[in-house]
Amino acid sequence: MALNCPRCDDPRTEKVSDSPVPGAWEVFRCQHCNYVWRSTENLADIHKYDQSLVDRVVAAWPQLIRRS
Ligand SMILES: [Zn+2]
Repeated sequence: MALNCPRCDDPRTEKVSDSPVPGAWEVFRCQHCNYVWRSTENLADIHKYDQSLVDRVVAAWPQLIRRS
């Protein structure tokens, strides 16, 4: 199950990949800031972004990198 984004804390996350060895790891992506992480990473070490900075950067991204 996907958690909130470790960067921006947004709950809109999705699993995008599984390891070739079943159950070894999963890859998740944040639908808000596009951050991608693996389930085996130590999420406590990931620097959180300031939410206002994330919102400014996301607003500036071209539409082509967004999923519909
Ligand atoms: Zn995020």
